[in-house]
Amino acid sequence: MSDTTTKSHGSDGVENCVIIGSGPAGWSAAIYAARANLRPLLFEGAMTEENRIMGRFPMGQLAQTTEVENYAGFPSGKLKEFLDSAIDPSRQYMFPPVEEHAHAVTGPELMELMRQQATNFGTRVITDDIVSVDFSKRPFVLNSSENGSIQAHTVIIATGASANYLGLPSEEKFRNRGVSACAVCDGALPRFRNKQLVVVGGGDSAVEEASYLTKYASKVYMLLRRGEMRASKIMQERAFSNPKIELVKFSVVDEVLGDDVDPRIGVTGVRIRNVETNQTTDLEATGMFLAIGHTPNTKFLGGQVETHENGYIAWQKPYRTITSVEGVFAAGDVADDYYRQAITSAGTGCMAALDAERYLASAGIH
Ligand code: NDP
Repeated sequence: MSDTTTKSHGSDGVENCVIIGSGPAGWSAAIYAARANLRPLLFEGAMTEENRIMGRFPMGQLAQTTEVENYAGFPSGKLKEFLDSAIDPSRQYMFPPVEEHAHAVTGPELMELMRQQATNFGTRVITDDIVSVDFSKRPFVLNSSENGSIQAHTVIIATGASANYLGLPSEEKFRNRGVSACAVCDGALPRFRNKQLVVVGGGDSAVEEASYLTKYASKVYMLLRRGEMRASKIMQERAFSNPKIELVKFSVVDEVLGDDVDPRIGVTGVRIRNVETNQTTDLEATGMFLAIGHTPNTKFLGGQVETHENGYIAWQKPYRTITSVEGVFAAGDVADDYYRQAITSAGTGCMAALDAERYLASAGIH
């Protein structure tokens, strides 16, 4: 699917600035690049089932989250009227019901606001994936899944990171049949309602997932491989004070149990192992949700941009978004294994657009 208004190119048939990714980094880069008259073209990702399952849907990780309480400028309140006035009604499909608006802005709302702001300034958006690149050529060549090849003088990589899975064969077998890495996407499914569920992980995401799931589940076990949580204090308090959440410490998943032949049944339990005693226990559960961190989305780059050992793109200078390829910039979680906040991503998106603009000016291109 693509936006048909996006087909025009830069004056020489080459795009000035192509942005890949549609999280806070991508949209912030687009807002700055558009206001600098670079006429950016943004690939927001394709709406495929594979992308959905792998957590790579357009609008990034925030599209799969609930309230965003820590993004500066969005205090809790009744946002409905503002959202209605700011966002085109055709883009309001993913908003939660009105009564849920009395809280902080939600991830999908924040992303739609950024998208709207970027398109207001002339960003062209294509709902497709970039599947490979050739950065050895000038201009750069970007190959999309359904919209052919694009040439670009600068590229901003803002493809974020995707949820990790444990890598167990039984986990793979039950994906979409009770195994998920997105509570907001899947939590309301009938198979999880009034049932016991397991969340793996002890970080902020795990608390967020577990808290969300308690809306539907009878009980949520949070599985910690250590004796303590990694989550921030305020999120830990949220878990401790929720009567439906039970922490299971020093425990890892050995196997996901269930019926993988009849998809209506799916997951029926999770075999866990206490890492101190080696004792296994079967927890009755109809779902297992992973919240064990993320992997940066860099596969499509085919190793053409230098990364750190852990796969995150390496900035070549402190406080500059420049990568190992001159004219290619990286912003957001794809280059950040440390802060990983919506607001820091947005900040580096702005930096990448400014870096791209300065590069184009110094090269005499724009
Ligand atoms: P984190 O890396 O913070 O936490 C990952 C969790 O998963 C840890 O508890 C880790 O355990 C556990 N884990 C990792 N691998 C395994 C494994 N193989 N088996 C079992 N457990 C495993 O990731 P998050 O996604 O939670 O958070 C990422 C960033 O996003 C953080 O900076 C966080 O603050 C931020 N964030 C903020 C939110 C907010 O403020 N509302 C909401 C969500 C995320 P261990 O601790 O033992 O390593």
